[in-house]
Amino acid sequence: MTETRPQALAALVRHFFPEAAGIGSWVDGRIVPGTGEAVTLTDPASGLTLATYPDAGPAVVAEAARAALAGQARWAALTGAARGRVMQDIARAIRAEIEPLARLEAITAGKPLRDCRVEATKVAEMIEYYAGWADKLHGDVIPVPTSHLNYTRREPVGVVLQITPWNAPIFTCGWQIAPALATGNAILLKPSELTPVTSLAVAALAERAGLPPGVVNVLAGFGHTTGQAAIAERAVSKVVFVGSPATGARIAEAAARRLVPCVLELGGKSANIVFADADLERACLGAQAAIFAGAGQSCVAGSRLLVERPIYDRFVAMVAEGARRIRVGDPLDPETEIGPISNANQYRHVLGMIRSGLDQGATLAAGSDGTPAEGGFFVRPTVLAGATNAMDCARTEIFGPVVTAIPFDTEAEAIAIANDSDFGLAGAVWTRDVGRGHRVAAAVRAGTFWINAYKTIHVASPFGGYGLSGYGRSSGVEALHEYTQVKSVWVETAAAPGASFGYAPGVGA
Ligand code: NAD
Repeated sequence: MTETRPQALAALVRHFFPEAAGIGSWVDGRIVPGTGEAVTLTDPASGLTLATYPDAGPAVVAEAARAALAGQARWAALTGAARGRVMQDIARAIRAEIEPLARLEAITAGKPLRDCRVEATKVAEMIEYYAGWADKLHGDVIPVPTSHLNYTRREPVGVVLQITPWNAPIFTCGWQIAPALATGNAILLKPSELTPVTSLAVAALAERAGLPPGVVNVLAGFGHTTGQAAIAERAVSKVVFVGSPATGARIAEAAARRLVPCVLELGGKSANIVFADADLERACLGAQAAIFAGAGQSCVAGSRLLVERPIYDRFVAMVAEGARRIRVGDPLDPETEIGPISNANQYRHVLGMIRSGLDQGATLAAGSDGTPAEGGFFVRPTVLAGATNAMDCARTEIFGPVVTAIPFDTEAEAIAIANDSDFGLAGAVWTRDVGRGHRVAAAVRAGTFWINAYKTIHVASPFGGYGLSGYGRSSGVEALHEYTQVKSVWVETAAAPGASFGYAPGVGA
């Protein structure tokens, strides 16, 4: 008899947490059951229940905060080199478990297994990248115009709270824990209540590989309860949030009450601009990857396709033809290119946005007309043509496999349309004109921009948003700065005290 999805999930939970009775939070090296309301995990491929678990709640959050404070002291006391070695061991442990991690992600998030293998591998890569930084981050000596030696130290922030979304659970977990660990912080990670299990598995694997308990704690539960309780914890010195602008605003507001700084990695409505002189075949493949990969549930999705008018009809037809050929199906089927939408709420939103686009005058060049499918949250790759940038489908983040194709006449108009958005996360231009490529890249207000490419990101390169897409930066050296604070140390070197600038001895600045 073939294994059902709930059975497959239960077997994977036993694989990663043999001692645990079920899904809970990872606190101080063990699974701790929550005390709140039940959270239901749903299979996106069937709409049926996969499992339930109790929301962590404030008592578990408080226990995790205590564990994190103690864990941080132990972790930061290690040398950078020692932290780097532990992180390399963690990366090896993750590489040894790519398949079960990928299956767990595919079952709970509904992402195609082959994408999940790539994302789990990226977690190992991100940890390796930052492991290399652990012993290379240092302060400066500043040539101050006094008799002092002045130097800076980059110190850990302390305990950081990371709140992550459901669209890329294991990826965002690795993305944020890696730089935080390299810089000597401890972590409270609150993944989406809908997809907590791979983050829990990463924490368990990390500890088996040598990370001291208490350094990474994963809180499984709702945002408005567990997430808010964590923001209110005195132990938390910084909040890094990956999710929607509306929730980001709520989180920044709660953090501001305690004057706790945030990094906000939010949504997007990115413009993918295709000029008539582009290599249209490559641009077409790029446009499909930009919006349809991951069923469009990607913050950097190229959801607005801006096409120069002379090639508009032809290019949109090419993209629509490609969209019709994409294999949509069961996330665990190795042939599947696009899985379902990850959850029921998001599914309703995506269908509603398609209907709104059609109601406002766009035409359906390919895909769904917004009618719900039977048994599972599947949406065919959809191309809305003949659209304007004023339509809701061009202004609201859809976060599904739906592209809105808009014509333009001039370079200036393309830039104006690209920038006529509250968001500023990413964008791209396709052209054979090198000068135009760089001009457009400079003019579009976005944190990431591609020329004749789309979607490539790497842990070594900074990532973040302009405008409603957020503030602060992840990845690269920039993330190391987000996870550290700078201390300036002054050492008097004068033979006789009080010589500098005539101040009285001991009074200082
Ligand atoms: P969301 O904002 O609904 O939830 C994100 C997280 O916030 C979840 O863990 C949730 O439990 C928590 N949360 C919700 N309400 C909260 C509250 N009141 N207090 C504290 N925590 C709370 O986002 P989502 O629907 O899970 O994810 C989709 C969004 O994430 C999209 O907008 C997408 O663009 C964005 N995203 C951005 C990036 C990026 O790097 N910029 C990456 C991935 C996803």
